[in-house]
Amino acid sequence: MIFKLILVVGIIAAIYFVFFKKKPRVSKDTKEELKGSDMIECASCGIYSQLDDSILSNGKYYCSKECLEKVS
Ligand SMILES: [Zn+2]
Repeated sequence: MIFKLILVVGIIAAIYFVFFKKKPRVSKDTKEELKGSDMIECASCGIYSQLDDSILSNGKYYCSKECLEKVS
């Protein structure tokens, strides 16, 4: 009986934790919350590449050095 109660409380806590954790993800498209594995659109050719592979210049992301030189 007590074991069952602990299990139920545990499940509720787990559900609450999942919802609480997911809340900040709503504002995903703000640049501050970008992660290295996020896909970024190249400002020159429009190709999506990983943030880790992108080049940031003047607040815009480029997929390669070639694209960066094309714009500037
Ligand atoms: Zn590009």
